[in-house]
Amino acid sequence: MAGKQILLIEDEKSIRDMTAFALRRAGFEVSEAEDCRSGRAQISDRRPDLVLIDWMLPDASGLELTRQLKRDPATAELPIILVTARAEESDKVSGLDGGADDYVTKPFRTRELVARINAVLRRSGSTGGDDTVEHDGLRLEQASHRVMAGDRPVTLGPTEYRMLEFFMTHPERVYSREQLLDRIWGGSVYVEERTIDVHIRRLRKALEEFGYDDLIQTVRGAGYRFSTRRG
Ligand code: CA
Repeated sequence: MAGKQILLIEDEKSIRDMTAFALRRAGFEVSEAEDCRSGRAQISDRRPDLVLIDWMLPDASGLELTRQLKRDPATAELPIILVTARAEESDKVSGLDGGADDYVTKPFRTRELVARINAVLRRSGSTGGDDTVEHDGLRLEQASHRVMAGDRPVTLGPTEYRMLEFFMTHPERVYSREQLLDRIWGGSVYVEERTIDVHIRRLRKALEEFGYDDLIQTVRGAGYRFSTRRG
């Protein structure tokens, strides 16, 4: 995904320089920030296509910044990858629960980082379709990436959007976690199956206030199904 604009928020200059160098060599345009405050300022100045946020930053944690950006409707759909030295499972889950679209643990290989960035960008980008899919008053417009519940917009992160798009274009069928990973994430990166559950939870939560969360149904022992035939 050459030419895409990546904002790198990392306070350690040596890591920032090295990462920026590697990303530029991979064809990305890179801007840099050394703390949350300047990162936020840059995002409102010139919106990047993706933000890479280090967990440990001097003025606030990268997780806190991720939460702030995901809570703000102006930046909720901005793809975020959290970078951390902490490899514990609980951190990974709280990173994803905080709204990050993916997670990379230091030290990482450049090739893995680039693959993950491309995968997130692919999920946030257009799938090529420009149809409008509607079920039960829930409308997904592929051309504009907008989801409407009646006349009210539903705010979704890129992964939840792709997930809902997949479900709405493949309704009334059960998909296993493995199949969903394959169809939504693609085969290029390793993602644990439980990651699916985190995104399902987030998608349901986003749909909940509009009364559409029960369209995403858990089929015990099999996976998930999008169905307008409510239980
Ligand atoms: Ca740091």
